[in-house]
Amino acid sequence: MFTPPCCPNPLCSSHQGQPFTYQCRGSFHRALDDRLVQRYSCGVCGKFFSDQSFRLDYRLRKPKLTEPVFWMLASKVTHRQTARLLRCNRGTVHHRLELLGSHCREFHARQLQRLKGTLSPDLALDELETYETDRRLQPLTVPVLLHELSWFVLDVQVAPLASRGGLREPDRIRRDQLVARSGLRRSGSTEAVGKCFANIAPLLAPGAGGMLRSDEKLTYVRLKQKGLPEGMTHVRISSEEPRGMNNPLFRINRTLAMMRDGVSRLVRRTWAASKRREQLEKHLWVWVVFRNYVRRMINRSRGQSAASFHGLFPGQLPTHDLLGLCPQYRADPPLNRAAS
Ligand SMILES: [Zn+2]
Repeated sequence: MFTPPCCPNPLCSSHQGQPFTYQCRGSFHRALDDRLVQRYSCGVCGKFFSDQSFRLDYRLRKPKLTEPVFWMLASKVTHRQTARLLRCNRGTVHHRLELLGSHCREFHARQLQRLKGTLSPDLALDELETYETDRRLQPLTVPVLLHELSWFVLDVQVAPLASRGGLREPDRIRRDQLVARSGLRRSGSTEAVGKCFANIAPLLAPGAGGMLRSDEKLTYVRLKQKGLPEGMTHVRISSEEPRGMNNPLFRINRTLAMMRDGVSRLVRRTWAASKRREQLEKHLWVWVVFRNYVRRMINRSRGQSAASFHGLFPGQLPTHDLLGLCPQYRADPPLNRAAS
């Protein structure tokens, strides 16, 4: 049974401290998805609302499309192909990406809050390179921070990189036009990695040692000293080490490879590459939530997700649950510390 947590009317006095009360006011059948929806009235402002007011599919014309779009965004299907498969407009897919991107980002942020002060410091960091519109002129970096033991993706950022050097004459002309239009493109890599550390540092269990694994990029040394606890060891591994399961960076390398395999925009030599980095970021949050909460932790761990390893949920989260209520209205099960 769903209990309305608050009044959805932003102007209601219940948001200024007056205790919220409500009354049940019958129900109606929603033919769109064959659900019985309970109606209520607010005891404070008197406005009517329903279960639907708290859901992600509130006021959507085609709520049944949200779940398949979520799966396709995490399965390397491009926007246009998603629209063809679901027999809908490309604008609908675009709208769902907007909706799912912010939903997944907020959902993950709220789950991380529940882990505050409990996370074992067992981290790995690496950056994936991609681009927006033009591979040479507008490259991007995507720092990814991983909890190694559980394969749980903690944070993802997207930042610009400076245009590449050694350009041919036509590319140099286009670069100069780009600089005149939107200014010199500078690398935001250091800032983005710093943000990853700043977001995750409050989650780490106090006093625990642990380690951060990364490659030998020099800026990581200073950023680790600045952003992560002193007792944490920074292990730097040469990128010349042979790849494979014995490489200490295996799990983060594998995660980046899985990300490329799941997100259509990141596939190499594709014409479906991102045109704007804001859209890439939204798409990545959908994949991160799929990876952490919906997919198995590894193929052999039946019924267990990376999130259930940390005790956030008892098992893999069904997508109808994930895409049901908006994150701020969810009542999640208490954190099961025994699971981690
Ligand atoms: Zn109210």
